[in-house]
Order: sequence, then C-alpha cells, then structure tokens
Amino acid sequence: MQQSSPKSASLRAFKCRLMGHNFKVTQKVTNYVNEYKCTCCKKEVSDNSTGGLDTLTNRTREINQSLRDLFTRRRQHRLSNY
Ligand SMILES: [Zn+2]
Repeated sequence: MQQSSPKSASLRAFKCRLMGHNFKVTQKVTNYVNEYKCTCCKKEVSDNSTGGLDTLTNRTREINQSLRDLFTRRRQHRLSNY
C-alpha cells in the first residue's frame, strides 16, 4: 500500500506554505544547532550559524555530523580531565 502519493505530498506542502511548518527536533547536533523535520510535509531543516534555518541536504548533514563528532569529543575530553 502506498503511504503517500505525490499528490498528497504536494497538498501537505501547500498547507505548510499557508500555515507554516510544524517542525519537531529530530537530531540534536550541538547546544545551539538542531535538525528538525516537519510533521506535516516531512521537510527537513537545520539551524545554521546565522541563527536561521537551512534546508537539510546531504552537505548540511555532513557538516552537522562533523559538528556533532567535534562537540561529543570535546565534551568527553573535558569529562576525562576532571
Ligand atoms: Zn511542512
């Protein structure tokens, strides 16, 4: 069974354009950066360095992954020092 046809997807996107997206955090990257997914149209975005939102692409995902690694490593390093 098809969960979502292209038609209903564009209908949801249209509703989001009218009403705004309903973003939920899907991934915490750092204290300041999160990844979000719209519960309505499934659009994925991420916080960027200027405080806005960027559409989540493979490139953004890669950057966030590196950020997350760096963030986790730094936190672990700090913990191991004390
Ligand atoms: Zn949406």
